[in-house]
Amino acid sequence: MKKPLLSAAVLLLAAALCVVSLASDFRAMQEREPIYPGPGVTSVRMLSDWFPGIYGTPGDTEVYILEGKKPGSAMLVLGGTHANEPSGMLAATLLVENAQPEEGTLYVITHTNQTGFTCTDPQEAAPMRFTIDTPAGPRWFRYGSRASNPIYQWPDPEIYVHASSGQQLSGSETRNLNRAYPGRPDGTLTEKIAYAITELIRTEKIAVEVDLHEASPEYPTINAIVAHENAMGLASDSLINMQLEGMDISLEPSPKNLHGLSHREIGDFTDAYALLMETSNPAQGRLRGRTDEHLVVTGQDKFYLKAFGYGRLYVPYDENGHPISQRVARHVTGIAAFANSYTEMNLGGERGGINLGTLPGYEELESDIGPYLCPKA
Ligand SMILES: [Zn+2]
Repeated sequence: MKKPLLSAAVLLLAAALCVVSLASDFRAMQEREPIYPGPGVTSVRMLSDWFPGIYGTPGDTEVYILEGKKPGSAMLVLGGTHANEPSGMLAATLLVENAQPEEGTLYVITHTNQTGFTCTDPQEAAPMRFTIDTPAGPRWFRYGSRASNPIYQWPDPEIYVHASSGQQLSGSETRNLNRAYPGRPDGTLTEKIAYAITELIRTEKIAVEVDLHEASPEYPTINAIVAHENAMGLASDSLINMQLEGMDISLEPSPKNLHGLSHREIGDFTDAYALLMETSNPAQGRLRGRTDEHLVVTGQDKFYLKAFGYGRLYVPYDENGHPISQRVARHVTGIAAFANSYTEMNLGGERGGINLGTLPGYEELESDIGPYLCPKA
C-alpha cells in the first residue's frame, strides 16, 4: 500500500513543479526589454489611441512621437513588424533613444506586432533573447516570431483570405501583420493592428512610412528598398545618397498583385509614400546551422559561408557574417536618407520637410551600435 502512495506523491510533486516552471516560463515569455525614450521624444501614446478596438488587447503597443522644433511633414517608422527580424526593432529603438528632429514630426513604433515578441516560431530553435554590448554594460532584447502569438489568435483557418483583395494564402499567414494591411476594424487581432496603423497614417497625415524588415541571405529581395509606385521617385533619390554613404542597396517596385503588404496597401489606401527596407539576417534563413544568440548578433554561420561559395546567396558573405550593427546602420541610414530626399525634393510643399537632426552616420553605426543603445538608469 505504501509504495503506490509514495509514487503518487512523487508524481503529484513533479506535476506541481512542472506547473510552477511553466508559469514562470510563461511570465518570462511575456516580459519585454525596457525602452529609454531620449530627449527628442515629446510624447508617448498607445496605438489604440488611433483605433480603440485594440485597447486593452495584447496587440496594443507604444507609439513614440518626436516633434521637431519647427513644424513640417510627418514620418512613421515601423520596427518589429516581424519579431524574428531584430534589426528593425533595434533601429527603431535607436531612433527613439537618440533622434532629435529639427523639422517635422517622427512617429516610431518599436514593437509593431507586439504579440510576436511574446513567442518564438515552433521548431526553429530560436533564442528568446539576445544581448547587445554597450559601454554601460550588456543590454538584452527579445527575439520573437514572424507572426502574432497564436495564444491570442487561434485557430488559423486552412486558407487565409486577404479581406480587401480576396487573395488566398496559407492559413498561418492569417497571423502575419505584413499580409494584413490595410486591416479591418472587425477582423482578427492582426487585422485590427494593421487597421490601427492605417488609421494613424490617415489621421496624422503621415507623409513617409518606412517598414523595417530582414530577410534570409538566400532570399532575392534583400539589402533592398521596396517602394510603392508613388514612392519610386523618393526612393531612387534616397538610394543614391545611401550608396554615396558606402551602402550597397537596390530598389524594387512593390508588386501590384501581391496584397496585404505595407508597401502595397499603405500606398494604395493612404496618401503616404510607402517604403520597406530589407537587410540580411542569417538567423532566420533556412540554410543556417546552430541557432543561438551569437548567430542573431553576429550573423556568422559556417553553412552560409559554404552556400556563398556555391553561389547560392543574394548577398556577399564572408567569415565576418552580417553583424547586427551593420544591419541597424543600414536601416538608420535609409530612414535619414528618405527624410533628406523628401525635404530636398520639396515633396511636402507648404507643409514643410522632415529633418531628423544629427544622427550617427553609416560607418559609425556599422562599427558599433552599442554606444547608441546604452541602458539608462
Ligand atoms: Zn519581414
